[in-house]
Amino acid sequence: MKFIIQALIESPDGLPLTVPVQTIERSCDRIEDVGLRLEEAKSILNGLQDRLVRQQLAEHLDRRACPDCHRPRMIKGYHPLRFRSAFGDLMLRSPRWMRCSCADPAIPASFSALKSLLTTHTAPELEFLQAKWAAHLSFAAVADLLHDVLPIDACLQGETIRAHVFETAERLEAELGPEQFAFDGGCQLEIEASPEPGPPIAVGLDGGYIRGRERRPGATNCFEVIAGKSIPQEGPAKVFAGVGQIDAKPKRRLHEVLQSQGVLPRQHITFLSDGGDNVRQLPGHLHPNSEHILDWFHLAMRVEQLSQTARGFSGTYECPITKEGILKELDEVVSLAR
Ligand SMILES: [Zn+2]
Repeated sequence: MKFIIQALIESPDGLPLTVPVQTIERSCDRIEDVGLRLEEAKSILNGLQDRLVRQQLAEHLDRRACPDCHRPRMIKGYHPLRFRSAFGDLMLRSPRWMRCSCADPAIPASFSALKSLLTTHTAPELEFLQAKWAAHLSFAAVADLLHDVLPIDACLQGETIRAHVFETAERLEAELGPEQFAFDGGCQLEIEASPEPGPPIAVGLDGGYIRGRERRPGATNCFEVIAGKSIPQEGPAKVFAGVGQIDAKPKRRLHEVLQSQGVLPRQHITFLSDGGDNVRQLPGHLHPNSEHILDWFHLAMRVEQLSQTARGFSGTYECPITKEGILKELDEVVSLAR
């Protein structure tokens, strides 16, 4: 049996065009023959991506006429451009257009015609997949995973993914605004006049130490990561994290997470943490209507530690309170907290 997969391209200015993408020819005698195989699916996706991108770019480059005088701009030349996508890399021929004679002489004499469209040479979805999976797996394992399920270019190896993830992180970091000691929610009148807020938001904050990859003699080799999760009653939760010793914008990072969830000045935010110095200072002066409380899990852990110490109390020291007395007081603390 033979299957011919074709793409039908319809554009407003031309007749419909059918282009071949892939031909599959095989019998159906074994279970392995039923349905598409991964390699066939990858090849089809790669072929479709190639057709789609080339058609889209051709339409984009049709806009060569000057927007002011409508005369076509001269072509200075072409240069090769590699566009990386989740469905394969494409080698493109990118033209350089000359500035129109009617344009301001202060602007450059020529420019890349695709620069306004392809602001980076990697598709955002591929950047996202690399960053997402690199947070869970080693860079080499991410490369293996992507190669298994997508028609990723063979050159995309662990080291390349590592470089891409760092580039993405640096670009996102550069887009983050400056750090501030306090974030102004406006004066009291502005806060009172702000729209009616939604239900409260809970933000959990915690810190933990992770052993570093580099082993430097004499150094503790550990670094502290502060991570958090903002959970609104309506809408999806968001997570965030930063390395305490090197994060120059921890408060800005948390502020942007809350803003992306549409927090309003009168909305109530409850920050929960273990009470550690770093996580306690983070939400300070961040929102006009917030409170910071010690979360029950960490409170229970501290009471349990004290209870264990009290149970081992021998009573041989001169102490005005007995072991039973200490345990009774700790039980009362737990009852009050509940
Ligand atoms: Zn012109």
